Amino acid sequence: MKTIGIIGGMSWESSAQYYAIINRAVRDRLGSPHSARILMHSLDFAPIAQMQADGEWEQLGEAMAGSARALEAGGADCLLIATNTMHKLADEVEEACDLPLIHIADSTADAVCEKGLTRVALLGTAFTMEQDFYRDRLEEHHGLDVIIPDNDDRAEVHRIIYEELIAGEVRDTSREAYREIIERLVDQGAQGVILGCTEIMLLISQSDSPVPIFDTTELHALAAVEFALS
Ligand code: GLU
Repeated sequence: MKTIGIIGGMSWESSAQYYAIINRAVRDRLGSPHSARILMHSLDFAPIAQMQADGEWEQLGEAMAGSARALEAGGADCLLIATNTMHKLADEVEEACDLPLIHIADSTADAVCEKGLTRVALLGTAFTMEQDFYRDRLEEHHGLDVIIPDNDDRAEVHRIIYEELIAGEVRDTSREAYREIIERLVDQGAQGVILGCTEIMLLISQSDSPVPIFDTTELHALAAVEFALS
């Protein structure tokens, strides 16, 4: 079994989910008491979130590269960045070490394409929904047609992530807000919804959406298990 390297802590609420999903999948595949070989380099999210808000992406790139090198030195065989947003720095991470990066958008797009869907809605942080780095990957590498919520809905999706989910707060009113936003995206032709932030799965599950949801946390974690057991 290969060792899965995870750059985590963004936030730790979702990194804990990665840890559980990966270990459960390895146990299911190999039988108990098997568990995964995992190295996690978990960062303090407070300065990370501040640098994101301040647009200090160069410094963030250095932090991510440092984590990648630490995981390589520790013996990881692959790398996961356990957040969609920080895939903005995927190139910097890949350049910092020789490990293969399992890209969260690829794991997700593969699942969308397997279901035969082409037009998907993307929910995530404002960075992920509004900037090119994530949507371009889905559209140009995988031929998907990506739609995002309108201005007000994007602000609400983003706010709930940073003010609640990252703090482990799961509120019914926020779930209802997400459900309504999903309905509006389905009215615009979304055939599926990408939960493009690794904490959204704490709030939303398949029963909250009339169309298939694609949980990036689970899909990404399972892609790592495939790699580790291949
Ligand atoms: N975990 C989140 C994501 O998947 C947001 C936190 C972050 O900015 O990294 O995008």
